[in-house]
Amino acid sequence: MSKILIVEDEEAIADLEKDYLELSGFVVETTSRGDVGLQEALKGDYDLVVLDLMLPGMDGFEVCRRIREQKDIPVIMVSAKKDDIDKIRGLGLGADDYMTKPFSPSELVARVKAHLARYERLVGAGTKSNDIIEIRGLKIDKTARRVYVDGVEKNFTTKEFDLLAFLAENPDHVFTKEELFRKIWNMDSVGDIATVTVHIKKIREKIEYNTSKPQYIETIWGVGYRFKI
Ligand code: CA
Repeated sequence: MSKILIVEDEEAIADLEKDYLELSGFVVETTSRGDVGLQEALKGDYDLVVLDLMLPGMDGFEVCRRIREQKDIPVIMVSAKKDDIDKIRGLGLGADDYMTKPFSPSELVARVKAHLARYERLVGAGTKSNDIIEIRGLKIDKTARRVYVDGVEKNFTTKEFDLLAFLAENPDHVFTKEELFRKIWNMDSVGDIATVTVHIKKIREKIEYNTSKPQYIETIWGVGYRFKI
């Protein structure tokens, strides 16, 4: 649930805004002073601030500027004067939106929702989700380096994991044992390609229901292996 701070010294307006936002499911706190509002905005875990311009204690210009120094939550500035809104825009204080009083409470709710949605998208874009390959009951989490079969985690050694992930990333492609050995063991030598066979066997024991009829890693006789998608 999103939490909203209203900084507004006209009690009737603050109450109206609070009522409408609460009816829309938001948690709302109000304060009538600019300086108190700034403290609240900085220490509280608010998702958005509705900020009046003319306030006792500290004006909305200063409050907005100082919130911006520390937080990137959306700030909607409101003022009774159209001229003030133009001034705020000109100052580039970093407010996300401006509304001239009087405005309808439903207009405020709509803008609050739009800004929260936009902000959540921005924040969401910053956190990279795990790189996951999912095929039937098999789930390979490349970021966490974990493998699950039907939701149950299986323990993989580093090379087993690398080999499975490589094959799953390149499905429907036949790789020879030599190619897999070079790729996973990172050695340009002829090496012991039997290692690949051993690892494939171990992987199958962990992910296949029936190792004699593998549904994921197919053996292409005389050539190598292919991951079935
Ligand atoms: Ca005011």
